[in-house]
Amino acid sequence: METLFIAGAWRPARDSGTRTIHCPADGQEVVTVAEAGEQDARDAVAAARAAFDDGGWPQTPAPERADLLRRLADRLRAEKDEVARLESLDTGKRFVESQIDVDDVVSVFRHFADLAASDAGRVVDTGMATVSSRIVHEPVGVCALITPWNYPLLQTSWKVAPCLAAGNTFVLKPSELTPSTAIWLLRALAEEGLPAGVGNLVLGAGASAGAPLVDDPGVDLVSFTGGLETGRRIMAAASATVKRVALELGGKNPNVVFADADLPAAVDNALTAVFLDSGQVCSAGARLIVESSVHDQVVDALVERARGIRLGGPFDDEAESGPLISEAHRAKVEQYVAEALEDGAELRCGGDRPEGTAYEQGWYYLPTILDRCSAGMRCVQEESFGPVLTVETFEGADRDSAEDAAVRLANDTIYGLAGAVWTDNAGRAERVAGRLRHGTIWINDYHPYVPGAEWGGFKQSGNGRELGRMGLEEYREVKHVWHNTRPAPAGWFADRSTGPGE
Ligand code: NAD
Repeated sequence: METLFIAGAWRPARDSGTRTIHCPADGQEVVTVAEAGEQDARDAVAAARAAFDDGGWPQTPAPERADLLRRLADRLRAEKDEVARLESLDTGKRFVESQIDVDDVVSVFRHFADLAASDAGRVVDTGMATVSSRIVHEPVGVCALITPWNYPLLQTSWKVAPCLAAGNTFVLKPSELTPSTAIWLLRALAEEGLPAGVGNLVLGAGASAGAPLVDDPGVDLVSFTGGLETGRRIMAAASATVKRVALELGGKNPNVVFADADLPAAVDNALTAVFLDSGQVCSAGARLIVESSVHDQVVDALVERARGIRLGGPFDDEAESGPLISEAHRAKVEQYVAEALEDGAELRCGGDRPEGTAYEQGWYYLPTILDRCSAGMRCVQEESFGPVLTVETFEGADRDSAEDAAVRLANDTIYGLAGAVWTDNAGRAERVAGRLRHGTIWINDYHPYVPGAEWGGFKQSGNGRELGRMGLEEYREVKHVWHNTRPAPAGWFADRSTGPGE
């Protein structure tokens, strides 16, 4: 059995609770892990607190901290296939996708290692020769890092790498559905020299193992990636102790296609945008917004291609996409589709589970396209987080009104995580990109990212940024140090004392 990692030691839950993980592709048992309760979570916070307050990690020179991150990156490269295998078994996603994710994680650790060693604050000009003023960056303290199941190690690396680079200590609480790569990570960090208590791992459900991390006064910052409802709850709970809160929440991301786009490229990328990993991607382009004059051409091509997508388990070389994460999640996706059909959407393909014995033990759902959707439908507004594409159309009498109509639809959402615009007109591309209220905009592309560029949401998609430079700033306090090198009385109040001893 795999256990919790607290204060540098592996140990079971206090109440001996356990949870068994099953692969979503075929139901096979993957691993049994300890299931933490509230007291385990508080133990982990206490360990991280002690390591921060009394240990040497925050004072360790940044280049040394960066070295540890680089060693971790090297180790990940060396153990890539094993880590990818763990990720695929927990999530059901294709092995090749997990391998790509591990490559991305390597880049993330290297990115933050480079940043950690390069940033040394700044000097402020006070205009006074005898006073120096400087801005220094210090770690925030104890960080609770709470992550989702769709990109378990990747999302974790976006938090753990900057958190350590900045000199913080942490308690990691991965999704209860996908603990394996978090266990690998903590083991690897410890073996590479992370001091005891600096990194702690609590495994378990959100309500019992995650919530105590959010209300514990020993935690200074909560960095959370997950769903909107959980994010709201976390923000409210953290307010009691005025913790710093960084939220990376969901998205309902528009993929806008103008008639003047390179349509074969737009169609092909629209498929990847929404059906990659069966739509279980926060930035999934689940909302196609297409100019009406090319609607039939684009949607017919999409339907034909979507019907041909091969589903299968992580190690099936023929498969192009995998299962949903759980039975409950598939039921939620099915409910969204059923409601959309009741509301007048037209089912063009999918809308069902695939047939065949290969799929019987897993949580598969066919790539689904719902045409004739409108902005008011729940399936258009809410994150189904499944392989479901909704199609809306726009048109305009002239150039400006077509752009206005497209932008209005694309911004008609409480979310603002990501979106794309497809057009061969560079001016239009820039005009529309500038008006879209989303944190990442792709022009004539969908999904790629680099660790050097910030990632995060406008509106209810969140309030922070990961990656880039800001991804490190989230984990730093800013301190102003004022140093008067020639102390003298301020002289504001008259000195009416009669002298010492009188
Ligand atoms: P979720 O909100 O159900 O759970 C996320 C994490 O929060 C899990 O570890 C869970 O155990 C924990 N949790 C649940 N309740 C909690 C509570 N009361 N207190 C503390 N922790 C609690 O999300 P999920 O289903 O695991 O992930 C899918 C969601 O994540 C989607 O909405 C997706 O868009 C989002 N996501 C966003 C990004 C991004 O970069 N913005 C990236 C990946 C996923």
